[in-house]
Amino acid sequence: MTAKSSCAHLSTIASVNMAREYACEECVKTGDSWVHLRTCQTCGVTLCCDSSPNRHATRHAQMSGHPVVASAEPGERWLYCYPDDAFADY
Ligand SMILES: [Zn+2]
Ligand SMILES: [Zn+2]
Ligand SMILES: [Zn+2]
Repeated sequence: MTAKSSCAHLSTIASVNMAREYACEECVKTGDSWVHLRTCQTCGVTLCCDSSPNRHATRHAQMSGHPVVASAEPGERWLYCYPDDAFADY
């Protein structure tokens, strides 16, 4: 896996955490809907993206300090680091 930037977080991801369930764990609780899903690479929670009304993945990254998410969308194979605004394919 090669990061396309100087981000130090992406290069520490040795194996990618896949989504346990294809659903935003927070939106499911409140009955809300989402657009795309992201899986936190620190704790494994799957949450919704910035195109979704609740933006749970971004809020989780800011509140928990967990920097890297992977796309949970079928066929998408990329990681994103919030603090560095950096993407990497895998
Ligand atoms: Zn980073
Ligand atoms: Zn959500
Ligand atoms: Zn997390």
